[in-house]
Amino acid sequence: MRRAFFPLSSPAGHWLVGLLLGLWLGVAWAGADIRLGVLAWLGSEEAEVQWKPLVQELARRLPGHRILLRHYDLDELAGALQAGEVEFVVTNPGHYVTLEAERGISRIATQVSAASQDPAHVVGSAVVVRAQRDDLRRLEDLRGGSLAAVAADAFGGYQLIWAELRRHGLDPEQGQPKPVFTGFPMPRVVEAVLRGETDAGVLRACLLERLERNGVVPPGQLRVLSPRPEVGHCGVTSALYPGWAFAAARGTDPALARAVLLVLLSLPPDEAGQAWSVPADYHPVHELFRELQIGPYAFLRQTGWDSLWRRYWPWGAGLLLILLVWGMYTLRVEHLVQRRTRELSSALAESQRLEARIVAGQEQMDHLSRLSILGELAGTLAHELNQPLAAISNYARSLLRRQQGGILSEQALHQAAEEIASESERAAGILGGIRAFARKRNRVRERCDLAELVRETGALLRGMQARAPAIALEDERPASGRWVLADPLQLQQVLLNLFKNAWDAQQAVASEAPIGVHLTAGAGRCVVAVRDHGGGLSGELRQHLCEPFFTTKPDGLGLGLSICKTIIEAHGGELEATEPAAGPGLVMRFSLPLAGADETDPP
Ligand code: ADP
Repeated sequence: MRRAFFPLSSPAGHWLVGLLLGLWLGVAWAGADIRLGVLAWLGSEEAEVQWKPLVQELARRLPGHRILLRHYDLDELAGALQAGEVEFVVTNPGHYVTLEAERGISRIATQVSAASQDPAHVVGSAVVVRAQRDDLRRLEDLRGGSLAAVAADAFGGYQLIWAELRRHGLDPEQGQPKPVFTGFPMPRVVEAVLRGETDAGVLRACLLERLERNGVVPPGQLRVLSPRPEVGHCGVTSALYPGWAFAAARGTDPALARAVLLVLLSLPPDEAGQAWSVPADYHPVHELFRELQIGPYAFLRQTGWDSLWRRYWPWGAGLLLILLVWGMYTLRVEHLVQRRTRELSSALAESQRLEARIVAGQEQMDHLSRLSILGELAGTLAHELNQPLAAISNYARSLLRRQQGGILSEQALHQAAEEIASESERAAGILGGIRAFARKRNRVRERCDLAELVRETGALLRGMQARAPAIALEDERPASGRWVLADPLQLQQVLLNLFKNAWDAQQAVASEAPIGVHLTAGAGRCVVAVRDHGGGLSGELRQHLCEPFFTTKPDGLGLGLSICKTIIEAHGGELEATEPAAGPGLVMRFSLPLAGADETDPP
């Protein structure tokens, strides 16, 4: 089947698409007004004359559009953009940079001059002085003088030279030289200098030459101060900056801007040799404004809190937020710490209270257990005490009888008195030991010699039980291993328990062998082994030996060894029962840590 239309990829198709696009663009803009706002730096009439050729060309090349030219001063142009009164603006580089920042305009072309076809180096300024002022040769010579300029916000008419003066150590803002603003048009500056009202004046580059050509200023009356040698076409004091900008307002149709740009680029230079070129880089203008702290960089002059806040408020707000969060976190942590501290203090107080009760309970138990073992031994105590008392009584009666019979010799009296004193001391010694052992008192830690404690405890046992077997002490400790840090009364209690159990075991098998006590020391500990020749204990029973209430005796309580174990463990030691290496019986062994190095020698 044949196709009835052109494929779009064919040459005829391209034509058709181009035609349709052109028609669409034409319909879209047909009859639209193009309002062009220009900066009238030389006054309205000059502006009308200056831009008329451009307006005519635009009208001719964009048929169907009305080109409306409007001229403004600096502030008015900004206002016109704000009110949406213009689609395009033409203004000086400084003003363009300001409007770009404040009103969002964007350049589409930069003006070049007959002398400079480089759009980045077009606009400059000249400082003019009267030719006969030989005292003015360099910019520095203007110190203390005065400088005429059109306005403080004129770019080529003041700001370029202001920056130049600053680079030479002068600052018109500080009155060096004193600025005198004449207002537009710029020739007023020339008049001020010619009349001698100011020492110098600022003109746009090449204006002096033009005024001289036009006969407005007689040639030779004025000259340019410090002309730059690299700029040949006119006398220029400042560096060269980008040319005037042709810019589109923010809402301008990009297609319309493109159409205008095409016209601008295709225009030949006007009578003054000025033409439009691709847009230049206006970065140097930004640098200049930043240096002078004007235009978009005017905020750099403000150092108050409000301006700092306006510049850095996101950082400030972030910082405040962080501080707030940090403050809240700190308060919360502080609150938690105080609560935990209170809880810990009360827990600590409670645990100290419980500990004190436990200690008191243990001391009470120790005391009761001592009384208990004394009670067990006291059955025969009366009999034991009876012996010295009976002896005392016998000696006393024998003295009486001898005295009544008249046969009391000096020697007999002496002997009887000695026996009476010795028996009394024996009875008092038994009672003293029992009293000391039975007394109630708090636990202590002091340096003790275990051999001494063994001897004292053996004496106590035999004091109360004359039939008790002898205690055979075997001391193999080195001189450096004699001292332990302990409660002597508690250790005596342990030893008395062990001796009593040993004797009980020996009585059961009617053995009268001495109870052996073997002391050794090594590896930082002192070991005490109490060996008897009783019936011993089977391995299984030995497991339960130290459990509370374990007893094999009909009248036993089964608490003695469990208390001994508690006491030994509280001293950092261990209590255990083993079989003897040879023969019958049982060995009860406990070990205690030796006292520190500074406490090893006897005092
Ligand atoms: P109690 O003497 O009141 O029975 P203990 O705790 O002192 O309480 O002793 C517990 C048990 O351990 C004793 O009843 C006894 O059977 C056993 N025992 C203790 N020492 C010896 C020993 N040297 N020989 C044999 N058995 C012993």
